[in-house]
Amino acid sequence: MENNFLSFEEYMILVEQAPIMIWRSDTTTACDYFNERWLVFTGRTMEQEMKNGWAEGVHPDDLDRCLKIYLDTFQKREIFEMEYRLRRHDGRYRWIFDRGVPFKGSDGKFAGYIGSCIDVTEKVEAREYLQKIHRKLELLVNERTAELQQKQKELEELNKALEKQAITDALTEVYNRQKFHEMLTQEAKESRRYNTNLSLIMFDIDHFKLVNDTHGHQAGDAVLKEMAKLIGENIRDADLLARYGGEEFMILTSHTDRESAFALAEKLREKVRTAKFDGVLHITCSFGVTQFHDRDTIDSFLKRIDDALYKAKNNGRDRVEMF
Ligand code: GH3
Ligand code: MG
Ligand code: MG
Repeated sequence: MENNFLSFEEYMILVEQAPIMIWRSDTTTACDYFNERWLVFTGRTMEQEMKNGWAEGVHPDDLDRCLKIYLDTFQKREIFEMEYRLRRHDGRYRWIFDRGVPFKGSDGKFAGYIGSCIDVTEKVEAREYLQKIHRKLELLVNERTAELQQKQKELEELNKALEKQAITDALTEVYNRQKFHEMLTQEAKESRRYNTNLSLIMFDIDHFKLVNDTHGHQAGDAVLKEMAKLIGENIRDADLLARYGGEEFMILTSHTDRESAFALAEKLREKVRTAKFDGVLHITCSFGVTQFHDRDTIDSFLKRIDDALYKAKNNGRDRVEMF
């Protein structure tokens, strides 16, 4: 070997037989050469492919884009790369990767473009397949996310309902005894810490056993419901109404001294006396009222309210007693 250059014949073989398709165009964009691999691929003659003949083999959906890239970069004398579908000799379209490079003649002037192409169908199809799978997965993820969000919402609603159930008396729908104790402990702490007034009203339906005996247990239930509703409508939102036992209720009123609580109890007693309970004539309640003191424990506080109510019963019912 005298030098490292290939001979002209060797170059010829390379250009015609390397597994790439090669084309050349002149300075007017018209093609004037296609290598053997190109012609074997398209199954057409050099004459058919010449000038713009090659464009007949480009897929109609790709032609406009293909020509635009070709002509635009040709104008700028820049290198272009593009993918398009080209019809093979068997009539099938194959994806072609085409790289076009401007070249100069022996006079150093722009002489046209030389392009080289390879069949990238498998690559393109694999890419499209992956994109399709990706879109499907995305859709699936979105669906699952929506489902999860819905389930989460349902769970939150269920939790809320359960939380409410845990603190509510099922029959009257006011707070239950547990919630009352919880609130009482909390309010007693606050009252002690900030030195604020805290009063308690306890009331019990008079001769309720007689209501049941006369009108039946169901009518008794209805009275309990109506009672809770009536009282609830006549206290402040901040006052806590709870069913403490069978026909005993508690009203915890913060920021209220015992005189105000007494006045409230009197107002409620009057409301009950004059109210009409469905199917049952006269209903009255007895009330106890007391205020929380610094030296009180929860037990001593509850004992005093119990005593006040007991006194109201003893003194003839349908009355308020205060300790
Ligand atoms: P007093 O004036 O002394 O309070 O008399 P009373 O009859 O109301 O009191 P007592 O403790 O003798 O009876 C209470 C009654 O309340 C007996 C019980 O059957 C009834 N009771 C308790 N809980 C319920 C309930 O949920 N529904 C109904 N319908 N009755 C209930
Ligand atoms: Mg009673
Ligand atoms: Mg009772």
